[in-house]
Amino acid sequence: MIVWFRNDLRLADHAALAAAVEADAKIFPVYILEETVAGRRELGGASKWWLDKSLKSLRSAISQRGGKLICRKGDAEKILRDVVSETGADAVFWGRRYTQPEMDRDADIKKALQDDGIEAKSFNTCLLTEPWSYQTKSGGYYKVFTPYWRAVRSSFEAPDPMQAPETFAGVGIDGDEIESWELHPSKPDWSKGFDEMWTPGEEGAQVRLQDFLDGPIREYEEMRNRPDEDGTSGLSPHLHHGEISPATVWRAVMGRINRGLKEEESAWSFLSEIVWREFSYVLIYHHPKMGRENYDSKFNGMEWRSSKKDLELWQKGQTGYPIVDAGMRQLWTTGWMHNRVRMIVASLLTKHLLLNWTEGEDWFWDTLVDADPASNAAGWQWTAGSGADASPYFRVFNPITQGQKFDQTGAYVRKWCPELKKLPNKHLHAPWEAGSDVLKKAGVELGKTYPRPIIEHKQGRQRALEAWETLKGK
Ligand code: FAD
Repeated sequence: MIVWFRNDLRLADHAALAAAVEADAKIFPVYILEETVAGRRELGGASKWWLDKSLKSLRSAISQRGGKLICRKGDAEKILRDVVSETGADAVFWGRRYTQPEMDRDADIKKALQDDGIEAKSFNTCLLTEPWSYQTKSGGYYKVFTPYWRAVRSSFEAPDPMQAPETFAGVGIDGDEIESWELHPSKPDWSKGFDEMWTPGEEGAQVRLQDFLDGPIREYEEMRNRPDEDGTSGLSPHLHHGEISPATVWRAVMGRINRGLKEEESAWSFLSEIVWREFSYVLIYHHPKMGRENYDSKFNGMEWRSSKKDLELWQKGQTGYPIVDAGMRQLWTTGWMHNRVRMIVASLLTKHLLLNWTEGEDWFWDTLVDADPASNAAGWQWTAGSGADASPYFRVFNPITQGQKFDQTGAYVRKWCPELKKLPNKHLHAPWEAGSDVLKKAGVELGKTYPRPIIEHKQGRQRALEAWETLKGK
């Protein structure tokens, strides 16, 4: 039997693997770098970096169990047929995906294999519940998060954990070396700093979860908005690549709650974020073009600006707003950005700079190690105001007060914008308001060592509101 790994690069709690174990068959593990999924977006540079490491970790775990991860590049249908004939396998199992191009491709592959008399079966390996599982009273899908969350919270029970197979087959079957795929960003390769922060793979994911359960979960509710503190789990790239199942996370957290965790509401608040990820999949499943098109079609008439220069200043962390620049530099250096800061930088791009959210989404797609078709589009559309359950357009984040409120200690800005590190907290988030003496003492020369704001806050806000008024009037 072949188990085809995709966005579920783990051995534990993997429904397709568990079904293969149940069938008591030899398991040939396969990974395909697909080149022929019509309409699917190419992987971003940071995602490639992660995939490379994650595949190597999976390869090693499989080889410790006597098998070989068969890696091939090309058309999945052809490759699966080849591996079937080379191994004599009579079945192919895999985990389901939920974007339209991938679902279309998987349906074709399933049919082609079944037509050839090969058993082809898919399973839920990536989500707690699949996008069609919950319906509103009127029979539609949930478009607003809070009632969706309530429905999941009150009814979801994680199934028992599924054991990893003890042995694998595959030795002797041809495959590519992962190294030959050269999965990393190119021109330039900016991933050098990622190693310091991340350990891709199943073990790395387990360590992250344990570290989070042993500490930050207790204060999550309070600290999850604080980029200057280590208050969140950092599990997003592990969840995105399927190195840990969301059910494993759910069970572990519920275990703490059931054992009487004092900070129970904090733990529930964390689980609600896990369900935000699920909700993003509900939205993209029911609105497949959400990755490129406004969920709310009213936004199709929005008169976005076009400015390559402003976009580049934003991408490089040179907007003159310290919290924004810190976030964009954190992203470039580590492949990740804190959620609160993602909202602030996305708001600056779509409101103050009035640039289309797709331009920011593209940048995130290329630079995030957790770049996810559902969560990224949902996050951008939420911030821009064009999403299903979006923050209202007139809510324009103030990058100064957001910085003061959420980077209270200033540690975040000081880490990522070291040229400002000597500024006192009072002026750290608005250096242009500091007097010349203060700036001089801190070694800051505006326009030279650090930029002036790309646009004045009040002016940017006003322009965004006017654009919104024009749109409403259309
Ligand atoms: P924690 O706070 O520890 O949360 C636990 C898990 O819940 C996360 O690992 C993640 O899987 C999920 N989660 C948390 N918040 C959200 C959310 N708002 N939406 C969906 N899932 C969530 N998340 C991605 O995984 N991939 C993306 O491409 C992505 N793009 C985003 C773009 C924008 C503009 C915004 C505002 C948010 C985006 N997010 C994305 C959501 C969120 O920022 C990250 O999931 C979170 O910062 C990951 O850090 P963490 O693992 O420490 O989160």
